[in-house]
Amino acid sequence: LVKAVEVTKNFGSFRALDAASLEVKKGEVCCIIGPSGSGKSTFLRCINLLERMDGGAIWVNGELIGYRRDGDHLHEISDAEISRQRRRIGMVFQRFNLFPHMTALENIIEGPVQVLNEPMAEARDRAMALLDRVGLADKAGHYPSELSGGQQQRVAIARALGMRPDLILFDEPTSALDPELVQEVLDVMKDLASSGMTMIVVTHELGFARNVANTVAFMEAGKMEEVGPASQVLSMPKSTRTAEFIKAVH
Ligand code: ATP
Ligand code: MG
Repeated sequence: LVKAVEVTKNFGSFRALDAASLEVKKGEVCCIIGPSGSGKSTFLRCINLLERMDGGAIWVNGELIGYRRDGDHLHEISDAEISRQRRRIGMVFQRFNLFPHMTALENIIEGPVQVLNEPMAEARDRAMALLDRVGLADKAGHYPSELSGGQQQRVAIARALGMRPDLILFDEPTSALDPELVQEVLDVMKDLASSGMTMIVVTHELGFARNVANTVAFMEAGKMEEVGPASQVLSMPKSTRTAEFIKAVH
């Protein structure tokens, strides 16, 4: 479902992504691990077009992201096209996911009504079902400030689901949470994974990666240093750099 081939991204003279390639099949979960500054967030941001890559290509669902091919030439697509592509890709960040002036329910309804033109009644029913799915049916009328960090992240996941995405990208969704709130978010993500959602998850939670991920990618210095089945990369890494990182995180 996702195919990234030799994606390169420079910030000035600094190369944040250096020919990073990754494939994620439909219904699979890929966890990206790696040290701070290795390019994990930048990689996700290139997939959903929050950053423009400087080289390489990304396909989602067979569709080239951000560009249109015309013979041998690539043209940047219009902002409207970018919005259409981005809509298919859910994103859950570390924090600041929700609109603070909207209730949990309103946060979820917003996209389907405004962007997908869903009728309000239908959007509301679906949003309630999604809140129920993340265990927060009783919090529909609460504002983000009235929810715990873990609850906010669960609403953020429900909101991403409300847009009926092809895949969801998670950028360290639990690393801003108090330790006792981490598991409830991971449980929702695990549930989502078993429902067949395609997910790319940047995380330091190696336990989650071990239990839920199909594949694990270890990034370092903008490169995919090692990519493989989760059990292999986490338990028998081929790269000594991967092994050192996993040992240090434990
Ligand atoms: P962390 O684990 O700390 O979140 P990361 O692996 O997500 O790190 P990125 O945020 O992708 O790392 O950043 C990769 C590198 O690119 C870093 O060195 C960062 O300083 C640099 N970088 C990221 N965004 C920008 C930007 N907008 N302008 C300049 N440099 C940037
Ligand atoms: Mg990051």
